[in-house]
Amino acid sequence: MGITSVTKDAPRAYEIADRFRELGVTVVLGGIHPTIMPKEAKQHADSVVIGEAEENWPKLLDDFEKDRLKPFYLWDHKVDPSSIPSPRRELDNLHPLSATLQTSRGCPYRCEFCQLTGIGDTIHRKRPIETIIRELKNIDRKIIWFQDASLTINPAYSKRLFKRMIEEKLNKRWMAFGNANLLERDDEFLRLAKKAGCIAWMVGFESISQKTLDEIIKKKTNKVERFSYMIKKVGKHGMGVWGSFIFGFDTDTPDVFDVTYDTIKGWGLETAEFNILTPFPKTPLFEKMDKEGRILTKDWSK
Ligand code: SF4
Repeated sequence: MGITSVTKDAPRAYEIADRFRELGVTVVLGGIHPTIMPKEAKQHADSVVIGEAEENWPKLLDDFEKDRLKPFYLWDHKVDPSSIPSPRRELDNLHPLSATLQTSRGCPYRCEFCQLTGIGDTIHRKRPIETIIRELKNIDRKIIWFQDASLTINPAYSKRLFKRMIEEKLNKRWMAFGNANLLERDDEFLRLAKKAGCIAWMVGFESISQKTLDEIIKKKTNKVERFSYMIKKVGKHGMGVWGSFIFGFDTDTPDVFDVTYDTIKGWGLETAEFNILTPFPKTPLFEKMDKEGRILTKDWSK
């Protein structure tokens, strides 16, 4: 049995793994949290896959058949993005309306709270565009969620993808993560995205404080004073913006909730989500807070 988990789900994943092992089932754990905490995960599994599984999974199955399963399958290099296989979507009957797809992996922005930074997945690796087009053609669902860290990291690549989606008349509706500074300035990008079926961009604004963006998150290229303009510009191109914010930075004061609410209302943001700053293990934020003695528990259920 294979179980993947992020940090917040790790206690539940361990509980399920323990139960299945009691029943005599061989359990393999993988995903972001076991990659970051492999020794911890191993206490609940027969084997732990560290990092991307595409190359290690066939080796693991072969070892399992030959009764020589290793305790850990290591990740010594990033998977070649052209070798990432398309999932067997016919097996997914839980999501009849929408599907997810990745055109690339990795993110170079190194936000200090992000687990991609924590695992060092900081090089943007692009899958071949024709592979993506083939995969999109085989998806019978109308709505697509692009699960890339951001579709704006390499705008030239994304524009080529959008052009091919338009040529193929795929007629999908899709959403993706995007960065404010690119969405603000590239009209051609927005025009092509809209024509290719984009309905909304999810943007990590994180904070309405420039000081927080500059000093804490290191998103120096994002300018709070330009956010309102960007939202209106994306709207003029016929797409929405879903903003993501974080509360709990050291620079936040008790009025941060009211001030944030009033500010984003003024921007005309259609949709927003709010998260609590969480020092996930191995992130620079976690290491910093741990050194300062501010990590009060390493029980991930809390
Ligand atoms: S931009 Fe997003 S994916 Fe990239 S490092 Fe920051 S939080 Fe992580």
